[in-house]
Amino acid sequence: MLSFEVVTLFPELFEQHLKHLPLKKGLEIGAIKINFHNIRDFAVDERGSVDDKPYGGGPGMVLRPEPVFDTVESIKRVSQDKSKSRVVLLSPAGQKYTQKKVREYSQLEQLILISGRYEGFDARIEEGLADEAISIGDYVLSGGEVPIMVILESVTRVMPGILEKAGASEIESFESNFVEYPQYTRPEEYRGMKVPEVLLSGNHAEIEKWRKEKSKPINP
Ligand code: SAM
Repeated sequence: MLSFEVVTLFPELFEQHLKHLPLKKGLEIGAIKINFHNIRDFAVDERGSVDDKPYGGGPGMVLRPEPVFDTVESIKRVSQDKSKSRVVLLSPAGQKYTQKKVREYSQLEQLILISGRYEGFDARIEEGLADEAISIGDYVLSGGEVPIMVILESVTRVMPGILEKAGASEIESFESNFVEYPQYTRPEEYRGMKVPEVLLSGNHAEIEKWRKEKSKPINP
């Protein structure tokens, strides 16, 4: 069982996502647990402040270290061993999130995911609190909540018992160095576009060969 610990200023953004597959199923069968930790509960003053102006000037506000350290340190760690419990900061400057990371995270017992907002984090948060920083791509979002949803969903769907067919996740895009072959369903012809003959042939060896040919290498 993997416990996700989501550290955010906006836990309500996740509500709908939890009601649908694969998270709903993961929660139902006990493959995953998701706990939310609101950074605002550890604000530095009565007014609920969690951010401040950047030293050296510049636009916007930066998340202060104290509320984020206090929130993460309030979480009961299952282990100090990084192969069991990992602290991940969401940042556009982090290492790129890949299907390899998905498999790696699915082996953990606890994954602590810290979402930024505003102009991002005080740099001491990454330095003193996180095991690693992860980016979901070379573009900037307003917060780490959507990137965290990407991680929750991608990790949960490779866990045993989540997808209908055992092994379905292993043949998907990025599991090897290829993206998946094109898929077709009914009707056989639509607006003049036909399903390739070989897929209707019932010849499994030929179908396999065609699918291999049509799988594209990643970053050719
Ligand atoms: N000033 C920061 C910069 O230029 O790198 C951007 C901060 S962004 C507006 C606010 C937060 O959204 C970040 O701290 C991070 O948690 C999250 N975020 C935005 N884009 C992201 C991405 N591509 N991957 C992961 N997290 C992202």
